[in-house]
Amino acid sequence: MTDLIKLALAILLISGGVAFAQTAPKRSITQISGDLYRFQNNFHYSVFLVTSQGVIVTDPINADAATWLKAEIAKRFNQPIRYVIYSHDHRDHIAGGEVFANDGAVVVAHERAKGIIIGENRPAAPPMVTFRRQMTLELGGGVVELRFVGRNHSNNMIVMNFPGQRTLFAVDFIPVKSVAFRNLPDSYLPEWLRSLAMVERMDFDTLAPGHGKLGTKADVTAFKGYMRDLYTQVLAQARMGKSLAETKAAVDLSKYQSWGQFKNWRT
Ligand SMILES: [Zn+2]
Repeated sequence: MTDLIKLALAILLISGGVAFAQTAPKRSITQISGDLYRFQNNFHYSVFLVTSQGVIVTDPINADAATWLKAEIAKRFNQPIRYVIYSHDHRDHIAGGEVFANDGAVVVAHERAKGIIIGENRPAAPPMVTFRRQMTLELGGGVVELRFVGRNHSNNMIVMNFPGQRTLFAVDFIPVKSVAFRNLPDSYLPEWLRSLAMVERMDFDTLAPGHGKLGTKADVTAFKGYMRDLYTQVLAQARMGKSLAETKAAVDLSKYQSWGQFKNWRT
């Protein structure tokens, strides 16, 4: 092989490798506890519960991810998917719901999510069953308690409690050891703080977030402290008539500087 051909091959391999790294999503299934599993698609996560009568899945994330998950569940557990539950209406978590709905899975979400999903044309199967405050789903001995805990991040966020596995799935409004996303899009304050207090009073051990590592109830308390510090300090500046620039300079959240994204998102 001439050096020129070797070089050409090396460039092909390198560029092919880069393209692969950019396009191949990082996907995994890991056991949380008992029959409850965590599904990862790059930076997004959901959970699913396997029972003797079928599987309850949650956020599909996107159509490709859901297609992959459906095939993996069929291969590993040989059970049909009976329910798909959306945490909230945002497309980066619920796109691809039709992958499960077209096979007969029942789509469940908060009642406010339905109108938004249809009205905003989200690329996801619309909810077929909705609720306002809470709902319990039982399937093949498995239980998931769905609860609306007030407006926080979106006006239709629900939490999903799996009492048999002592695990709570909560998306986007309780980051684990991380500050809140950038400019707090689609957010409701101070109701968010009340939401966190409600979740604190719920009975679970493991917190499964929609992004990042698993946590515990202590992470709910820690994040509530962060949001309260942020809210009260910004409010104090606003009440003094300070400008946005003055407020940014005055707010001191340095006790959270070890948290994820502190440098990138604090401002
Ligand atoms: Zn969201």
